[in-house]
Amino acid sequence: MENMPFEPGPDYARQLDAADELAPFRDAFSFPQPNLIYLDGNSLGRPPRAVAGRVRRMVEEEWERDLVRGWNAGWFAAPARVGEAIAHLVGAGPGQVVVSDSTSVNLFKLVVAALQARPGRTRIVSDTLNFPSDLYVLQGAIRLLGGTHELVLVPGADDVHGDEAGLAAAIDERTALVTLSHVCFKSGYLYDAARITARAHAAGALVLWDLSHAVGAVPVALDPWGVDLAVGCTYKYLNGGPGAPAFLYVNTARQEELAAPIWGWFGQREPFAFGLDYEPAPGIAHFLVSSPPILSLLAMEAALEPLLAAGMERVRRKSLRLTSYLIALFDQVLAPLGFTLGSPRDPERRGSHVAIRHPEGYRINRALIEELDVLPDFRTPDNIRLGLAPLYNSFGDVYEAVQRIRRAVEEERYLRYPLERLAVT
Ligand SMILES: *Cc1c(COP(=O)(O)O)cnc(C)c1O
Repeated sequence: MENMPFEPGPDYARQLDAADELAPFRDAFSFPQPNLIYLDGNSLGRPPRAVAGRVRRMVEEEWERDLVRGWNAGWFAAPARVGEAIAHLVGAGPGQVVVSDSTSVNLFKLVVAALQARPGRTRIVSDTLNFPSDLYVLQGAIRLLGGTHELVLVPGADDVHGDEAGLAAAIDERTALVTLSHVCFKSGYLYDAARITARAHAAGALVLWDLSHAVGAVPVALDPWGVDLAVGCTYKYLNGGPGAPAFLYVNTARQEELAAPIWGWFGQREPFAFGLDYEPAPGIAHFLVSSPPILSLLAMEAALEPLLAAGMERVRRKSLRLTSYLIALFDQVLAPLGFTLGSPRDPERRGSHVAIRHPEGYRINRALIEELDVLPDFRTPDNIRLGLAPLYNSFGDVYEAVQRIRRAVEEERYLRYPLERLAVT
């Protein structure tokens, strides 16, 4: 494709699809509405076909037949086992990733653990591009710990790009923890996690990356970067299903130093000894709390298979081609209609979703969903997010979606929708 210069017509999309090394992975998914272009895999991934069969087997064979014996036949070990699978996607060696709780809850657990491990340091450094739920969790943790910490929010360089120099300047000997989204939820800005981690460590601070919009979309190398802590979501690019349990990473070097704030029996050294006093399990296990949602966890485990088979290098290569192609079409077709780009042009700094902005973005997004069979999502104030999942989105999807977005505007279809917003955008 490097020797195929961009052309605006549909033939070019067909050539790119013909040359796409990941095209066969599309067959791992089903498309019950063939005309629908799904561009929200960064919010809720499509289920691989294997998932339905796995859930049926879980219910009919394991739950109905094995009953409580299922815990010894694979359920009890599932948080660690599936954690090891995810570890392959985030550059982590064994014994450092487990599946547990939700992203927000894991963030809370690790933030409290980190702050308590750095007594005397009073600052948390984050940024204004971070996912608001993450900031709420930080604010709640500060209050819980007595209100003696300060949350320092470094503004983005603008509302698209992070300000790495500003972050570096904000990190000092008062900083207990630096926590950021590796890929920012709105603009898709991708931080240089290795550099920021090194900067934080030079100041003696701990680092926690939220990988929710990064895992399964961009290469992550937690061990090589020396990251202390990470959390991430499994229902976005990992296709794990709505509300699928999240994962957390604690570097081996930090596991004994950090204490989990929620002491449940799954984090106890010997849960089935039923001793009356808590003793932490060694290693990563003391960050577990309690019975995992097995149906959801096993569905997610099955969903990981195509991604593990594709490998993050090929996924990233196709992701960059998809987003670059989208931006080239954007410049040609959408910029003249009043859209501006809400994502980085530098591919090195870009995740796998592209935000396009328009003053009528909310109503254009409604028209796309209601009558043009395109499913992106909307993020206030004016961003339509177009998520490109390399396993199942094609270059033809990108071409056709751009044509439909053009029609939504040129044919003034968006004017039929109220300005009032639905509860979930
Ligand atoms: C999606 C996402 C979450 C998800 O939070 P839940 O606890 O699963 O509701 C958290 N943080 C970031 C950065 C996200 O993108």
